[in-house]
Amino acid sequence: MLFFFLYFFIISERVESETDNLLARGLSHHNVLEKNFDSITMKHVALMESEAETMVVIADENFEILEASNDVNDEISLIIQNSKTIDFIDFPQHGVMIESRWRSEPFLATINPIQIGESIKGYVYMFLETQPIRGMIRSLTTQFIIVGMLAIAISIIITLFLSKFITVPLIQMKKATEKLSNGKSDVMLDTYREDELGDLSRSIQKLSDDLEKLKKERTEFLSSISHELRTPLTYLKGYADVLKRSNLTLKERDEFIIIIQEEAENVTSLVEDLFDLAKMDQNEFIIRKERVNCCEFLQEIVSLFKPAFVEKSISLELFCDKNIYMYIDRIRFGQVIHNFLDNALKYSSSNTAVKIRVLEEYQRIKIQISDEGEGISEKDLSRIWDRLYRVDQSRSRITGGSGLGLTIAKEIIERHGGEVGVESEIEKGTTFTIYLKIEEV
Ligand code: ADP
Repeated sequence: MLFFFLYFFIISERVESETDNLLARGLSHHNVLEKNFDSITMKHVALMESEAETMVVIADENFEILEASNDVNDEISLIIQNSKTIDFIDFPQHGVMIESRWRSEPFLATINPIQIGESIKGYVYMFLETQPIRGMIRSLTTQFIIVGMLAIAISIIITLFLSKFITVPLIQMKKATEKLSNGKSDVMLDTYREDELGDLSRSIQKLSDDLEKLKKERTEFLSSISHELRTPLTYLKGYADVLKRSNLTLKERDEFIIIIQEEAENVTSLVEDLFDLAKMDQNEFIIRKERVNCCEFLQEIVSLFKPAFVEKSISLELFCDKNIYMYIDRIRFGQVIHNFLDNALKYSSSNTAVKIRVLEEYQRIKIQISDEGEGISEKDLSRIWDRLYRVDQSRSRITGGSGLGLTIAKEIIERHGGEVGVESEIEKGTTFTIYLKIEEV
């Protein structure tokens, strides 16, 4: 469009400047002749014009040619003849165009009347050949066509380039996100670009990979839960079937009822744990912190656990400086310590010791629970925090573990703004360490 307008603008400018020039020359001859309208002056004017591209013709009041700078041909005579019909009332002194059709006619022409006193004594005609103007415009058209074609070609190349490097990846990303929102997470995007689009596609790819991982985890988790529930339920059904038999002794009956009770308790605690985890996932797990004397709090739990430890001949000791205070949710944090002590008891043999140490270091409270039990191998150590992970599946079933205790304990500690770590050595023992920030409230 711009080329189109530029083309027509240049042409009209060029033609206008030629006609202005013609009018200006006509006016200057007219001014000379008005002062001296005699044959010598006319000859001078004609002589001056004979070397120029333009041509002058001087005529008398009856349009008879008096002088001309070049030969007067038929076309020029015709223009002069046609000019007779012009109405010269209010004729402008600076002249008028009497032929301006440069595209079709051989000459452009102007006329200036020579007025001496009240009457018109003659006319000055100026002519300019239109052939050179048309030639110039033809070459300009050719140049514009070449430049226009080049501009179109460059635009096409740029459009193709933009669509390949910007539009196509954007469309791919749009399709990928649509796929993700439809629940399909197997998207593959080009992530090698080092620009903003590359960043965006890497983020979408990561989102898709994370979704895929989550989906896998969810499936695994669901199948583990169904497995966890199926086993105790099979036991329950089996023992209930046995109980229906009439040939059982009273002792056997009591035994089976106790087994059924224990299994039912296991299922209940598993469901409660799962419920806690679900609440944590939905951020509905509320922590109500209060200022608690650390030693008194731990001493209470130790006293509760003592009989069970004594029964298994395991010593349980607490080392704590009386003036340490912490901000915790009593019930939830109690659940954490409960779980660590429960594990220490479950995975330690007789005549060993379990120690709880409380220290203050680097603005943190450090609670260490160490046992001299069976320990955890390095391979299992990183996985013990995973949901439903148990080192020894069969043994944990006997001891009543579900593999959710440590997952919940870690979540609760982190929701207190704390951290938890573990160190362990097979046959030597395990130490769990809780770090809590010292809060000034
Ligand atoms: P569980 O209810 O099965 O004990 P946890 O989440 O509490 O589940 O623990 C996960 C696994 O970590 C357990 O199955 C056990 O193998 C291992 N574990 C936890 N505490 C100890 C410990 N003090 N000594 C040895 N192994 C432990």
